[in-house]
Amino acid sequence: MDRISLKIGIVFFLTISMVEGFLFYYLHSSIIHSRIDEELDSLLTRGNNHRDILETSYTAETIHHITTMESRTETHVVITDQSGEVVASSIPVDQYIQNIITAAPMNIRRSGLILEDDWQDKKYIASVSPLAEKGNVYMFKNTQRVQGLIAKLNKHFWLAGILLLSSMVIITLFLSRFITKPVIKMNEATLKIRQGDYSVALPHLGKDELGELGESIKVLADDLNHIKQQRSEFLASISHELRTPLTYIKGYADIAGRASTSPEDKSKYLQIINEEAARLSGLVKSLFDLAKMDENTFSIQKETVELCGFLHSIQMKMLPSFNEKNIKLNLTCDGESYIEADPVRFEQIIINLLDNARKYSDAGTTASIHAFKKSGRTHLTIEDEGKGIPKEDQAWVFDRFYRVDKSRSSSLGGSGLGLAIVKELVEAHGGKIKLKSEPGKGTIFEIIL
Ligand code: ADP
Repeated sequence: MDRISLKIGIVFFLTISMVEGFLFYYLHSSIIHSRIDEELDSLLTRGNNHRDILETSYTAETIHHITTMESRTETHVVITDQSGEVVASSIPVDQYIQNIITAAPMNIRRSGLILEDDWQDKKYIASVSPLAEKGNVYMFKNTQRVQGLIAKLNKHFWLAGILLLSSMVIITLFLSRFITKPVIKMNEATLKIRQGDYSVALPHLGKDELGELGESIKVLADDLNHIKQQRSEFLASISHELRTPLTYIKGYADIAGRASTSPEDKSKYLQIINEEAARLSGLVKSLFDLAKMDENTFSIQKETVELCGFLHSIQMKMLPSFNEKNIKLNLTCDGESYIEADPVRFEQIIINLLDNARKYSDAGTTASIHAFKKSGRTHLTIEDEGKGIPKEDQAWVFDRFYRVDKSRSSSLGGSGLGLAIVKELVEAHGGKIKLKSEPGKGTIFEIIL
C-alpha cells in the first residue's frame, strides 16, 4: 500500500472510529438509563398503588390479597407496621431485605422513595411507599432479569460495533485508494520527468483541482522539454558562432607572426584580427543582454519620452554612417506624442533596426522613420529600400542566430541576434513588432505600443 493512502486511511479510520465510539457510548448509556428508570418508576408506582388500596381498606383480607397477587409476579411486596415489624410479605424476608427495611429513613414523602437502584451488583432494586399511620409498603424486584436484558443489549452493541468497524476498514481502504490514486499517478509522472522522460501520459483527472494539477504537470513537462531542446540548440549555435571568429583570429595571427610576411600583409591581417575581435565582443555583449532578459533580472525603467525629439536625436546620431554609404535617412513625425519607455532600451531597438536598414540597403536608396498615432496607439515604422527578406525566412528572422544569408564570410555577416534582442525589448515594453518585406523592394518593421 502506498504511504499516502496509508496515512489518509489511518487518519480517516481513527477520526471516524472516535466519533462512532463516542456515539455508541452515548447511545448505550442512554438506553440503559432510560430502561432502568422505567423499571424503578414502575416499581414505585406499583408500591404506591398497593399503598392507596391499603389506605382505603387496611384489612387482613386486602393484605392477603396483595401478597398473593405479588407472589405470582416478578415483583415482591413487604408490608411493615410503624415499628418496622413485617406484617405480611410475598417472599421470605431474608437478611438482605431486612437490611433495606432497617436502613429506610423515617419520614418518607407520600410519593415514595427509591431505596436501592444498583441493578448491577445488588440482588434487588427496592422502593418504599409510606402508609399513613400504619407503616410502609416495600417493593422489591430481582435484578437478574434487568441484568440479562442489559447483557443482551451489550451483545447487540458489540456485534454492531464489530460489523461497523470491519465495513469501515473496507470503505477506508477503497476511499483512500480512490482519493490518492491521481496523486500517485502524478507523483510517478514527475519522477519520470526528473529522470528526463518528458512523455507524460496522465489519465484525464476531471475538472477539479487535481485535474488542473495534472494538466499543469503535462504543460510543464512540455515546456521543460522545449526549453531543454532550445538550450542545447542555443549552446550549439553559440559555440559555433564563437569558434568561427576565433579560428580566423588564430589563423591570421599565425600568418602575421611569420617572419616571411611582408609589413603590408601584416597590417592587413592585423586589421582582420581587429574586426573579428570587435565582432566577437559585440556577440558577447548581445548574448549577455539576452541572458539577462531570460533571467528576468533585466529591468525596464520607463520614463515619459517625447517621441519626435527622441527620434530626431537618433537620426542625427545615425546620419554619418548612412551618409558614408550614400543612403538617405528621413524622419516624419505626426505631431508631438509622448510615450512611456526606457530611453536607453528604446534607443537600442531603433538603432538595431536602422543598422539593419543600412546594412541590407544599397547606395542611393532611402531609409525612413515614421511615427504616427492610430486608434489610440503609437505606431513606429522603420522602412528601407534594401534587398528585402524572402517570404520563407520572415517567420524566423526574430529567432536567435537566424540569418537569411547563412554564409558568415559575407561582408554583412552579423550575429543573427539583433532582431531577437529587438523583439524581446519591444515585448518588455508591452508592445508588438511586425514585419513586412518584399525581396528586392525593401523591408518595413512596424512597432506598435
Ligand atoms: P544580423 O546581425 O545578422 O543582422 P538580425 O537578427 O538583426 O541579425 O537579423 C536577422 C536576419 O534578418 C539578417 O541576417 C538579415 O538576413 C535579415 N534582415 C534583418 N533586417 C533586414 C532588413 N532591413 N533588410 C533585409 N534583411 C534584413
